[in-house]
Formats: sequence, C-alpha cells, structure tokens
Amino acid sequence: QATSYEKTSFQDLGISDRVLRALAEMGFEEPSPIQARAIPLLLAGKDLIGQAQTGTGKTATFGVPIVEKIDPRVRATQALVLTPTRELAIQVAEEIGRIGRFSRVRVGPIYGGQSIERQVRLLRAGLEVVVGTPGRIMDHMRRGVLSLDRLRILVLDEADEMLDMGFIEDIEWIIQQAPQDRQTMLFSATMPEEIRRLAQRYMRDPEFVQVSPQQLTVPQIEQFFYEVRQALKTEALTRILDAENVERAIIFCRTKKGVDELTEALQGRGYLAEGIHGDMNQAQRNRVMERFRGGQVELLVATDVAARGLDIEGVTHVINYDIPQDPESYVHRIGRTGRAGRSGTAITLITSREFPQLRLIERGIRQRIQRRPLPSLADIAE
Ligand code: ADP
Ligand code: MG
Repeated sequence: QATSYEKTSFQDLGISDRVLRALAEMGFEEPSPIQARAIPLLLAGKDLIGQAQTGTGKTATFGVPIVEKIDPRVRATQALVLTPTRELAIQVAEEIGRIGRFSRVRVGPIYGGQSIERQVRLLRAGLEVVVGTPGRIMDHMRRGVLSLDRLRILVLDEADEMLDMGFIEDIEWIIQQAPQDRQTMLFSATMPEEIRRLAQRYMRDPEFVQVSPQQLTVPQIEQFFYEVRQALKTEALTRILDAENVERAIIFCRTKKGVDELTEALQGRGYLAEGIHGDMNQAQRNRVMERFRGGQVELLVATDVAARGLDIEGVTHVINYDIPQDPESYVHRIGRTGRAGRSGTAITLITSREFPQLRLIERGIRQRIQRRPLPSLADIAE
C-alpha cells in the first residue's frame, strides 16, 4: 500500500548511531518506503532519482546521507540542496540540522529576500551544507562568496517545481560550476520530460526509485467538492468552515489579489486568517508562518507559490477556494494535509463552468472526487 511504512528499520539501512539517535529524537520510528529503498543506495554513493508524492519523507531521504557523508574537518561547502522556495529552504535546512544534531554539521538556508550581508557572513564562517533557492545561490557564487570546489553532493529537491518556476537555466549554470566528481540526487513528485533530460545530462547512471506510481494522491486524504456560485463563494466558504469544524487549514487562491481579498473577508467575519504570497517580504512571510505553526492563525490563505513544499504539522484541511490549474498543482496543494500517514480533508470549490477542469483533475489523479451538498444555515446553527 502506498503510505504504509515498510517493516524495515532505520538500523537495517546502514545508518550511524549518531544519526539513528537524532532520528529517534525526531520521532521517526520506521523509514518511509522511499527512505527504506533510497538511503542504502545513496550511502553507497549512487546518483539517484526519487519520485514520490509529497509527504513521503523525501527530505530525510537525502538529509540522512548528507549528514553521514559530510566531513566536519573540511571547512568548506560539501553539500548543496536547491529548493524552489525560500520557505522550503528554511524547512529543509531545519530538518537536516535536526538529523545532524549529533554530527557537528553546520547547515544554513540561503534565500532571496534576506539580507545578503548576513548571508555573506554566514557563508564566510563556513557551512558544510547549504540549502537555497537557485537565484540567490547563483548570486553568492558570482560574488565569490560561495565556492563549490569541495562539493561532493548536489541535491535538486522538488525538481518539477523548480522547473515550473523557471529556474532551469539557473540550475544548469550552478551544476556546471560543480565538480564532475560528485553525487547528484534529484527528487520530484512528477517526472516530466524536461526532468528526464536534466537527469540524463547531469547524472551518472542514476538509480531510479519510485513510490506508488499508479496513484498520485495519498489515500488517507478525503477529497470532495462543492459546487458554488461565483458571487457567493465567500459565503459558501464560511458555511463550510463552520459546518466542517475546520481548525487548521490552508486555503488556496489563484492570485495574490485574491489572497488579500479573501483574507480580509475572513478576518472581517471573525476568523483567525492570514494571507501569504510572493509580494510580502520575507520577514512578513516568516511571521505569518510562525503564527500559523503556533496556532495563533488557523486559516492560512495562500497562492500556490507561497505554499509550495511547506510542511506544517496538523493541517486538517486543504481548501481550494479557486480550483487548481492542473492535476499536478492539485496534488501538490492537497499534499499539505495528510502528512506522514495522518488523515486529512481536501475540499475544492467549483463553479458550474469549472466542471471540465474538475474532470481533468480526476483523470490526472485517476480518482473520483465526491460531490457534497453545501451545508444549509440549519446545519451550521446547531
Ligand atoms: P516530502 O519532501 O516527501 O514532501 P517531507 O520530507 O517533508 O516529505 O516529510 C513529510 C513529513 O513527514 C515531515 O513532517 C517529516 O518530518 C515527516 N517524516 C518523514 N519521514 C518520517 C519517518 N520515517 N517517520 C515519521 N515521520 C517522518
Ligand atoms: Mg519535499
């Protein structure tokens, strides 16, 4: 089954005691399927392409081998992880930091929007593991602040997202500065042609590890849709929020303006809602994320880009206030709930004109999305 963890133990994978101890402290009891299959290959030095849906533990899949292979005596950047967004860079750096807690590995996030001087100081002080967004990484390489001369491991995380966001040229530029003699890992939820080409060009005889190709979405996520009239969408949403007892949700809008408007409407109706999108500066975004993680914000209203790859504990609902453009975006969005084997609910609002888009998504994920009738006022009033 897609999400039931295999009966292998972390001990079986050839992981050191230091890292085993860190994983235990993180509450990781058993490896996820992709971890069980990929970690031994990566520890053996293979290049690897890992394809698995969101929430399957890809970060530790490369995080563990990175921590194991870093030599803390070599005070130079030995591993570089490229991620599509700043939030993801922070998150991945944090997770590698936790895995490396007992291993004296210094890891840091490097992303746009943060003071470049601070990053320069951080890089000059020495980071064995750098996690960053392609643009800013390139910037530091050009300034001569970040050198890849001693690089041994290069990871492309969420490669499909990075391509969607137009980072392909930056990524290729960075790869070309890296030593040939390195280990390359590529992780992606989907495998479009462009990714295969990238792998062919820059990887050495890669192993391919794929988890549950038939089904893109995680089965423990309950999925349904409501048909609503465009003019009454906000009204419909608040009814659903009340009837469903939604406590912690990410609500997706198509545009930044949509995020602002919906956030304002929800706040005006007394919901603990805040918005996040690319026009906000990094400090603002971090503050919103902190409050959402801490529970002071219950509804995070977001654009696709702002919510990419985010891993937030206990998100019970993902709500597509605007229907996603394609099946892949749908899969990424609803992957924000039901993480690591927990259950979750995905709700999509559609207008009657958007049925063709819904069908397209259903075909893409090879699953039916069930219709639910809108809750009446009586349903909410009880
Ligand atoms: P992906 O990158 O595949 O979307 P993540 O690496 O972000 O997934 O992992 C999703 C969540 O599952 C995170 O909260 C992570 O800490 C947790 N997780 C990963 N591996 C395990 C494991 N073996 N046991 C328990 N939790 C895990
Ligand atoms: Mg990930």
